[in-house]
Amino acid sequence: MRHPVGWSRRDFLTSASCLGAAMACSRLLPAAWAADSIAQDPRVAATPLLDKGFASSRKIGDGVYATIADTTKGYDALCNGGFIVGRDAALLIEGHHLPTAAAFELEALRMVSQAPVRAALNTHYHFDHSFGNAFYGAQRFPIMAHAKSAGMIVERYASLQSGGAPALLSGFEKAAQEARDEIRKQRAAGDLQAANLLVNSSLHTALTLPSEPLDPAKLPVTIELGGLSAVIEAHHGHTPTDITIRVPSQNIVFTGDLLFNGSYPVAFDANMAGWMKALDTFAKWGKDTLFVPGHGAVCGQEAVAQERGALEDLGNHAQKMFKAGVSWQEAAQRYEIPEKFKKLGYFSWGFCIGGAIGRYYEELAPKR
Ligand SMILES: [Zn+2]
Repeated sequence: MRHPVGWSRRDFLTSASCLGAAMACSRLLPAAWAADSIAQDPRVAATPLLDKGFASSRKIGDGVYATIADTTKGYDALCNGGFIVGRDAALLIEGHHLPTAAAFELEALRMVSQAPVRAALNTHYHFDHSFGNAFYGAQRFPIMAHAKSAGMIVERYASLQSGGAPALLSGFEKAAQEARDEIRKQRAAGDLQAANLLVNSSLHTALTLPSEPLDPAKLPVTIELGGLSAVIEAHHGHTPTDITIRVPSQNIVFTGDLLFNGSYPVAFDANMAGWMKALDTFAKWGKDTLFVPGHGAVCGQEAVAQERGALEDLGNHAQKMFKAGVSWQEAAQRYEIPEKFKKLGYFSWGFCIGGAIGRYYEELAPKR
C-alpha cells in the first residue's frame, strides 16, 4: 500500500482507529495507579484529585501531584506527568500527547492553588511528552526543556510534516511484507502501527517548541517555589534530552522515560551506558524514593531494579550476538524474553527490544 503525500482528515480518522488497534495489540496493559509496593505509602492519596479517564491526578506529597495516563481510555495524555506547587509558584510537568492533557494538568493545579506557573517542563523531546505544548504556549507559560529538545523536535517531527512521512512508513511497510514467520510478522505489524501513530500525530500537531532551554552544563539547578524546592537534573539515557525533576525534601522524583514501570522501555534513540548510569543514580536516592515514571504506575526502587535487570539482559544478549557476528536486526529477533520479565509489556518490539539491541551494537562498534 502506498501512502499519499498529503493526509486528509479521513486518513487521520482511519489511522486513529488503527491506533486503537495498535494499542490493543501492543502488550501494554492498563496501568494501575500505584505499584503494590507503595499502595500503603502515606504520601500517596487514596482518591484522585481529578480523573478524566485518559489520565488521573493524585497527591503524592506536600505540594506534589502525579498524573498517570491510562491509554485504555484515551490517547490524550499517553505519558505520565504532574505538577509541583509551593506558596509562590508552580511547575507543570510534561506537555503530553495532546493539548487536552496539558489542559488537564492546569485544571488539576487550579483545584489546589492559584499560584502563578513558573514554567511547564518537557522531560524530553518525544512526541508523547511535547505535542500538547500548544496549550502551554497559548497560556504564555514558559516551556522548559533540555537545550537539545527544541532542535530534536524540529529534526524528527517537522521533517515528517515537510514530506518525510512516506519514506519513514515505507521502511516499516517493507519490513512487514518481508517478515518470514508469524512471530516476526506480528512484531513488524506492531512496529508499523507504532510508526503510524508517530506519523499521524506529527501531521496533525502544531509544533510548539520549548521556549526556555536548559543548558545541561548548568544543571542541576534548584527552582524555589516558596517553601518547596525542585531540582532539575540532566541525563543522557532514554534520549540525548532527558531531564528529571526531584523534590529532595520529600524524596519524590519525576523521571520521564528514563523509567518505564511494567514494560520494556522505548530505546531507539537511547544511550545505553548513560541510561545505566542514570538508573544507578536513582538507586542511590534510597529505598523510600517515590518515582513517577514516564509510563506505568507510580513506584519505588523495585521498578528501577527491574528496568536495570531488563536492560542488562538485553545488553548481555547483544554482546553475545555481536561476538558471534550476527547482525543487530537478527539479534533483535532472536532475543527471548526471560521468564522473570515475561510480565513486562512493550510498546512495539522494534522500538523497545530492537531499539535497545541496535543501540548496544552501536556502543560495541561505534561509527567512526
Ligand atoms: Zn520517550
